Amino acid sequence: MRCFYHPDYTFPLPAEHPFPMDKFWRAEALIRAGSSPLPPPSACHPLDDKRFSPALSIHPVDPAPFDLVLRVHTNDYLEQIRTGSLDPRAALKLGLPACEALLTRSRLEVAGTLAATYAALTDGLACNLAGGTHHAFPDHGQGYCVLNDVAIAIRDLHVTRPELRVFVLDTDAHQGNGTHAIFAADQRVFTYSIHVGKNYPAVKTSGSLDVELPRYVGGADYLEQLEATLAPAFFDFAPDLVFWIAGADPHEHDRFGQMKLTDADFAARDEHILRLVTRTRTPTAILYGGGYNRDREHTARIHAATVLRAATFFRA
Ligand SMILES: [Zn+2]
Repeated sequence: MRCFYHPDYTFPLPAEHPFPMDKFWRAEALIRAGSSPLPPPSACHPLDDKRFSPALSIHPVDPAPFDLVLRVHTNDYLEQIRTGSLDPRAALKLGLPACEALLTRSRLEVAGTLAATYAALTDGLACNLAGGTHHAFPDHGQGYCVLNDVAIAIRDLHVTRPELRVFVLDTDAHQGNGTHAIFAADQRVFTYSIHVGKNYPAVKTSGSLDVELPRYVGGADYLEQLEATLAPAFFDFAPDLVFWIAGADPHEHDRFGQMKLTDADFAARDEHILRLVTRTRTPTAILYGGGYNRDREHTARIHAATVLRAATFFRA
């Protein structure tokens, strides 16, 4: 399974900043350590079997070209990021220090999602070891999301394959409001989001299907809702491609997610989704989404576990 990554996904932030930038290099190291270049003995072998190492490869990316980014975002907004000239309210909303280096870092992340998109169409499953920046709108960023990588990839696909039906499967703990807004009028894109109703973002934008859960929902209730709502929407829409924004923030020890999923619940979530997309042979690009565990290393472990699980479902 092909994964895409760049060391500069980790952008330097002050130590006290709440965004855990270190999760990108930490997770990549865990994925590298937990994987093998050799083909797996069985495509569905359990991860806890030490004899088994999922097979994957990690590839570098270059920043996404501006003309692709401009298919979604306004030039004014990109200039405000590049020159660090966001007004104080917009800067607060974004939560990251706007500057040219941040824009370049965000273009790298977009490139990883673009590469994973095309790899998924060829191979079935592929990952960007970042991405899923679903709170970004065309003319502003919010919630640590500068550019909307999924929207840019969908717009790029639709240039050459306008008929392609795309399912955005968002299991991050927060609603994918930016992506919902961008594709609100596009019947070729189905936006599914399962999230806490009374949590960030305060103002929601309706998607094709929003599954709103109560604060501090437990794993059993979460999985019941996921299983009851996802498959019917998925089969009804019959997508040609899935973007799965996995999200590590539904975890019980996350600072912002307000859900109570355990590590075992994450395994069940991931396996449910991976079974659905692989049994139906639906190409799927897997992206990180958010993760703000009180234990920073744990955030990286959750992201890495999702990628390694996906590799066990991969059939070349
Ligand atoms: Zn989130």
